[in-house]
Amino acid sequence: MNRLDKSYDLVFKNLKIIDGTGAPAFYGDIGIKNDTIMDIGKISGQALQKYDCSGLIAAPGFIDIHNHSDFSIFQEPAARNFTSQGVTTLVTGNCGLSGGPLTPKNKEMFETERIELTQDKWKHWSHYSDFALDLEKLKKSVNIAPLVGQGNIKGAVMGMENKKVSTEQMHQMKQLLQESMESGCFGMSTGLIYDPGIHSDTEELIELTKIVAEYDGIYATHMRNESDFLIDSVIEAITIARRSGVRAQISHLKTSGKRNFGLDQIVLQLMEYYRRFGVEITCDVYPCIFGHTGLENCFPLWTRTKGMVHFQNILKQKDNREKIKYELSRPSIGWENILLDAGFDETIISGSQKFKEYEGKSINELSVILNKDPFDIIFYLVTNDPGIAILVGGLGKKDMEYVLQHPLSMICSD
Ligand SMILES: [Zn+2]
Repeated sequence: MNRLDKSYDLVFKNLKIIDGTGAPAFYGDIGIKNDTIMDIGKISGQALQKYDCSGLIAAPGFIDIHNHSDFSIFQEPAARNFTSQGVTTLVTGNCGLSGGPLTPKNKEMFETERIELTQDKWKHWSHYSDFALDLEKLKKSVNIAPLVGQGNIKGAVMGMENKKVSTEQMHQMKQLLQESMESGCFGMSTGLIYDPGIHSDTEELIELTKIVAEYDGIYATHMRNESDFLIDSVIEAITIARRSGVRAQISHLKTSGKRNFGLDQIVLQLMEYYRRFGVEITCDVYPCIFGHTGLENCFPLWTRTKGMVHFQNILKQKDNREKIKYELSRPSIGWENILLDAGFDETIISGSQKFKEYEGKSINELSVILNKDPFDIIFYLVTNDPGIAILVGGLGKKDMEYVLQHPLSMICSD
């Protein structure tokens, strides 16, 4: 049949079409029948409905490469917040945290990340495959490409404490990872500033990513440090990719802290350099200069090595609080001092179960309102609401713009 004789349900006329292949944009029409694009080009056939789309662009749906809708997609399967922006595919399970496996041993992760899960979910997602099955069954308007969180896997085997990994535990972690990859997940993510991922060393991650590489999956990493040790962290990601052969994705690349502004250019040069030798490494970036995290994650590492109960006990002692104050006031080694980089002016309460009235206020604003030292404010907040979430600034705008324009980066919502 000639294109002129065809009939369509819908024809969009005079579009600027970007087909996603990398080819230059061109002008044309799109003809649709039964929810399927039948023709692209010059269309003159009959249509039940025709629209003049002059001035509009048609493109394939966007992929949100770094997304955290693992749980919320079950509440909002229409995902209008994404489809209205043209996003049709979400890569979930980032920063070491995914829908499965969920076990009593890694339960604490979800409490501190302010994710409320019903007993129902705990019962059903103890294996990654159970989560994958529920996701498959869900009637949703977006495609989901889930990663498994290394935090889930490590927590499921070892709990949240910083202990040396035994051979048997390594074997168990590998088994859980293999099961996840067999269940159709697209790779593994790490959150190396969060418990329990923060306790994993490079060797452990190389061993795990070898399995991801076997399945041609990707390794997405929220690196150990995005501040004074940004370059070290990128070298770690590159080392993991070189030694395991995995394809690596640096999550939400940024520079934290004024003194580090400009480092992103070096990071991208390093990535380009190692790509010459076959290391497949790319990155993503969110288009804003505030990050989002839990206040508890901003405390010195030694306070967070034995889980939340221990953390709360540490904060009860005045000597410890003085020590923490001292450490939070200067650059750190071995953990990322997010609060120092952001400053109390750009540390803003974004979500709290207990302190709704403080949402939208900075620590400095609260300090004035409550007439208290900013450090005492953060101790008070995190003691009374361990899951309190914050927006943190101190990120480089020029760096963000540089990464956004670079061919090795992809945009994400986080
Ligand atoms: Zn992250």
